[in-house]
Amino acid sequence: MLGIESSCDETGVGIVRGTTLLSNTVSSSMDEHVRFGGVIPEIASRAHLDAFVPTLQQALHEARVTLEDIDAIAVTSGPGLAGALMVGVCAAKALSVATDKPLYAINHLVAHVGVGLLDGRAEGTSGPGTADLNASGLGAGGRLPEDLGALLVSGGHTEILRIRSITDDVEMLGSTIDDAAGEAYDKVARLLGLGYPGGPAIDKLAKQGNVKAIRFPRGLTQPKYMGSVEQPGPHRYDWSFSGLKTAVARCVEQFEARGEDVPVADIAAAFQEAVVDVITSKAVLACKENGITDLLLGGGVAANSRLRELTGQRCSSAGITLHVPPLALCTDNGAMVAALGSQLIMAGVEPSGISFAPDSSLPVTTVSV
Ligand code: ATP
Ligand code: MG
Ligand code: FE
Repeated sequence: MLGIESSCDETGVGIVRGTTLLSNTVSSSMDEHVRFGGVIPEIASRAHLDAFVPTLQQALHEARVTLEDIDAIAVTSGPGLAGALMVGVCAAKALSVATDKPLYAINHLVAHVGVGLLDGRAEGTSGPGTADLNASGLGAGGRLPEDLGALLVSGGHTEILRIRSITDDVEMLGSTIDDAAGEAYDKVARLLGLGYPGGPAIDKLAKQGNVKAIRFPRGLTQPKYMGSVEQPGPHRYDWSFSGLKTAVARCVEQFEARGEDVPVADIAAAFQEAVVDVITSKAVLACKENGITDLLLGGGVAANSRLRELTGQRCSSAGITLHVPPLALCTDNGAMVAALGSQLIMAGVEPSGISFAPDSSLPVTTVSV
């Protein structure tokens, strides 16, 4: 199964055989967005056009296969940036027509979970700090636990999902109602003059700061926001990070108004603690209240050292088994798309044909189009 990913700023092509990872090649246009302090959709789309063919060739080369060996193709059809998705979808359709191989249009968010099904650890996919949390065994036998929670935290998403079947039963338990966590990191880093992307910079600086020096608000934790999913407005397991970002801005202003040095490391530490505290407490609550005993952590922010640490601690106190795929498989990549495509084909799901369109707001409940 050949998987193609182009929903944001990563052009990814991955190849899997069943649940075995053969190759995973990613080209990122991140460097081109740095001077703008965020992903510029038009630049991302053009970069996908430039990167697609070389990325495909490299993935085939590393897997030691040719296009003739590929049995089926999977592509991210949403959610994501419309123009960026379009490039991957057009490329996938062209490949499907040219090679006469079936095509699966799949959901990017569910693919972040599907990657947890790959066996073992392929070469080059283990990231720093993954070893301790990595013995997940999720991929063993290519089966997910009966009832799996998935905490996806990235630049575009902050979501807690419940997966009863990776091919046809995915439910959203909670999500951010404004900024994604990674977006909050990027905005706060900009405010503190730490550059883009902000996540790694804040993570590093926070280690030197005093986390107790300042206490920032934890959004949506007051009892009135802890209602059931049936009610309108924020739900029990939803997050909000825009108030936190404003609180950091006010804090910086106050130091400046007093003519004092801004304690950047302390602010970074306190901000990070606020984000990580509320993410992990709600995710663990969602698992506990729904009888979920396995949780998978994914998305680019899964690289965060404090998020890994606190999720690990809170899961272990709550009797939840935490699964963290290698870092290279947590950020956007083609292997995760191939991994989910592979599950769909093994479950006997019909291919999508070539008349589907990319959907920038594809709901997470739609696993494949
Ligand atoms: P999508 O939301 O569609 O998956 P994305 O490209 O926005 O796409 P990723 O590539 O998965 O998301 O992750 C990028 C985000 O992760 C950025 O916001 C970045 O700041 C954040 N990030 C990366 N490393 C860390 C870290 N160590 N701590 C906190 N945040 C991090
Ligand atoms: Mg990215
Ligand atoms: Fe993603």
